[in-house]
Amino acid sequence: MRRRWFRWSAFFCLACLVGRAAAQGAGAEAGRPEDTEVWQPVPPVVTPGAAAIGGAPPSDAIVLFDGSSLDEWRNSRDGASAEWTLSDGHLIVYKAAGNIETRRRFRNYQLHLEWRIPEDITGAGQARGNSGLFLASTGSGDRGYELQILDSYANETYVNGMAGSIYKQSPPLVNASRRPGEWQAYDVVWTAPQFGPDGALQTPARVTVFFNGVLVQDDFALRGETVFIGSPRYGVHGDAPIKLQAHGDPSPPISFRNIWMRVLP
Ligand code: MG
Repeated sequence: MRRRWFRWSAFFCLACLVGRAAAQGAGAEAGRPEDTEVWQPVPPVVTPGAAAIGGAPPSDAIVLFDGSSLDEWRNSRDGASAEWTLSDGHLIVYKAAGNIETRRRFRNYQLHLEWRIPEDITGAGQARGNSGLFLASTGSGDRGYELQILDSYANETYVNGMAGSIYKQSPPLVNASRRPGEWQAYDVVWTAPQFGPDGALQTPARVTVFFNGVLVQDDFALRGETVFIGSPRYGVHGDAPIKLQAHGDPSPPISFRNIWMRVLP
């Protein structure tokens, strides 16, 4: 009798676990943002060297921003002129104007971009200097593949949402953040996903990222577009603009400079 009771209780517990797992799986698409946050392990801090900042582009680069104009950029919502602030050779996010994107479209490339969190930054977690580099924009708003930009110098948040992360897919290998007020650099190699004639994914997008000269993403294969809630998934697209994020958090806006890229086969 005792053994039978034990068997029934074991069966009941198993049924509960299966039911709970199914419910979590079914709820993932319409779930909460917290469901896809990863907090551990925390990437170790690495103090970057002085390299990789402020250099001139190579001779075959397409210069996307050299401090003189915003001609290569447009508002990603309506295609109008980009209305971010041009000041002292720097491009400052104008949050009310929304995201901006390149007028040209790209497939595979190498990209260099420098960004700076204001010295007087305020806020915490995701609300502290949040922006983003969308390696390919696949639509309005935040659609695409986001390499996160954030003040991650002594600012705790979920690790798959810190600077150097592929948002909610891949934490950086290490935290190579500089302190607010200092310029930082991303050097990216982006390989776009390939789709067959029937729209099926043939090869996923891949990305390698150096953050202040330190490797933080090592040929990572993306699971789809980066999303705030739910699971990543791919949608068919071709050549795409590169997009910069105007995040809605109330902290002071960040700046960009020295943005160039080289088209790859
Ligand atoms: Mg962001």
